[in-house]
Amino acid sequence: MRKMPGTACQPVSITGTHSMRANSDFVKRDLAVLWHPCTQMKDHEWLPLIPIRRGLGVWLEDFEGKRYLDAISSWWVNLFGHANPRINTALNGQLQELEHVILAGFSHAAVVELSERLVQLVPPGLTRCFYADNGSSAVEVAVKMSFHCWRNNGRHKKTRFITLTNSYHGETLGALAVGDVALYKETYQPLLMDVISVPSPDCFLREAGESWEAHSHKMFAQMESALERHHEETCAVIIEPLVQCAGNMRMYHPVYLKLLRQACDRYGVHLIADEIAVGFGRTGTLFACEQARITPDFMLLSKGLTGGYLPLSVVVTRDEIYQAFYDDYDTLRAFLHSHSYTGNALACRAALATLDIFRDDRVVENNQALAAHMGRRVAQLAEHPHVAEIRQHGMILAMEMVKDKQRPEPFAWQERRGLTVYQHALKRGVLLRPVGNVVYFMPPYVITEPEIDLMAQVAAEGIDLATREA
Ligand SMILES: *Cc1c(COP(=O)(O)O)cnc(C)c1O
Repeated sequence: MRKMPGTACQPVSITGTHSMRANSDFVKRDLAVLWHPCTQMKDHEWLPLIPIRRGLGVWLEDFEGKRYLDAISSWWVNLFGHANPRINTALNGQLQELEHVILAGFSHAAVVELSERLVQLVPPGLTRCFYADNGSSAVEVAVKMSFHCWRNNGRHKKTRFITLTNSYHGETLGALAVGDVALYKETYQPLLMDVISVPSPDCFLREAGESWEAHSHKMFAQMESALERHHEETCAVIIEPLVQCAGNMRMYHPVYLKLLRQACDRYGVHLIADEIAVGFGRTGTLFACEQARITPDFMLLSKGLTGGYLPLSVVVTRDEIYQAFYDDYDTLRAFLHSHSYTGNALACRAALATLDIFRDDRVVENNQALAAHMGRRVAQLAEHPHVAEIRQHGMILAMEMVKDKQRPEPFAWQERRGLTVYQHALKRGVLLRPVGNVVYFMPPYVITEPEIDLMAQVAAEGIDLATREA
């Protein structure tokens, strides 16, 4: 296998192998024909776009040989590095057999094996896998399935969903409606279904001296009263277990999930656990729900599912829900939902290779040492005058920059402090992409301790620079 140049954590320039204009050539061609996601394209008049030529492990390399440590796993998807030899081999094998086949009326080995493996790994009681091809689509599936399940059971009044403030579930209209990030949602409000919104158990907002557990427990009272008031019209509560990732990496205690499971049972409401970001070891357990020992009615997985290789998502649900649709065709109780690439064979094979790595390398156990090292390396930033909190759930670590630590007052979003961190980090060869004023690490699990040291050092420099004028 070809090694990328440079030592473990020093980005280097390769001269002579590529034209030094290689980046700008691609950028020019790109900006002539592309429209990038989640981007004000005008920013690229002054903010360089970075074309990536290749990746290996935690490193990305541009067309001029400059390397970037992928500290955010390329939008939280990559688990075992870029160009992972084991996933590559599995995909090469699958390519020789079958790239894709319609999943209605047909099946294939990879999707059967993957489904068997998943129902073994997810919390007990989840027995059925329904596939889609991205996270938002999995949210749409769960929302429709929950509503339709109640309808098939004669519960026609159940048409609404309960969601947490500051939650994120994707960008398609149904997913946007059950989420609550104003920046993404506000413009489209007239197009969105009405949801019941309950304050998040977000522990950043706890009282001084209050424990995470006490705060999350206290916040549950509002969920309880929403359920009490609205349960007859409510299909499901949808939540991101333990970490609201797109919502500035805000975190809460597992006790909230435990109370929520009990209350959903008491009130006859489904529980949808969106583990699209937190699943596959991110919070320190394979799935975040494990920390509360709960089984949701729907568990949504995507992002890390294929190790960051290919788009795939799955809704894993209970037999009772499956049975509510199982009937003669002319009763029209079937779930008539599909996506063209549902259960794609290559994506399923990448997912199987990813699960093999989890098993063979004891990844969840070994991540404990990496997570502890990450925590240690940023601990001193807690004393920084503009860092209000450092919080961590396993392999997700976040540092909240504030204007005034005593109050704590946030920086105005227009100041784009996070962007300063982003730009500084790029210069130093690290890809950090703060959400709002929150700098975070969500690295691939193949990161080494020296690479964590570099990531932490560069984050500290970036935070200093970004908060210098407060
Ligand atoms: C990313 C994300 C989604 C949406 O997934 P896409 O594949 O980007 O559509 C949904 N829920 C959560 C919690 C996410 O982090």
